[in-house]
Amino acid sequence: MIIRQLFDHDTFTYTYLIADENARKAALIDPVDTKLELYLRLLEELNLTLVAALDTHVHADHITALGALREQTGCDSCIGKQSKVDCASRLLTDGDEIEVGDLVLQALYTPGHTDDSYCFYLSAESTLFTGDTLLIRGSGRTDFQNGDPEQLYHSLYSKLLALPDETLVYPGHDYQGLSQSTLLEEQRNNPRLQCINQSEFIEMMNALKIPQPKHIHIAVPANRACGQRS
Ligand code: FE
Repeated sequence: MIIRQLFDHDTFTYTYLIADENARKAALIDPVDTKLELYLRLLEELNLTLVAALDTHVHADHITALGALREQTGCDSCIGKQSKVDCASRLLTDGDEIEVGDLVLQALYTPGHTDDSYCFYLSAESTLFTGDTLLIRGSGRTDFQNGDPEQLYHSLYSKLLALPDETLVYPGHDYQGLSQSTLLEEQRNNPRLQCINQSEFIEMMNALKIPQPKHIHIAVPANRACGQRS
């Protein structure tokens, strides 16, 4: 498997290129529109055909490259059905599989940060792309886009922590410079995973005071239109 972690400095977003080396087929997870040229160049340099571009959720902090990538490469664009992004090629539900050559990405519905949040799981490679559901030593916020701390509690504690301890965690953002982790490392060190019950978690999330993302009013409508700015 080829895996490349690409960083957008403006929004601290991680985009992932994953590929099956033998089939030369690739997918991009959470691509950013301003980095389109970089992705196309990298795909060409590595001799890869893009078969799918996926968003873990409708982002509030950057504009997606899903629509542009589909236009340029003919790949499928995929996002959870709860996003109601009807211009996507494929609307995912929990347990759906996206084939990338012999790699199988499983869509795990993990609402809480937003009501359309998904993680993508490569079970055979013990690798999990967590979007904003689980960050390294943190998690996504729950105070807009139908975010819900109760749902996030269940997504984190019941769904993600049920996966094997050694699972590699690749988050959707990092603001400290950390790039990857494991579920066990997070279970031990992530302050959001230390709550003894749901009410303690909800209280902690509701006490957070975080400023709104700068571009939310532009990014959310654009992302509902597959990245098209109005
Ligand atoms: Fe987000």
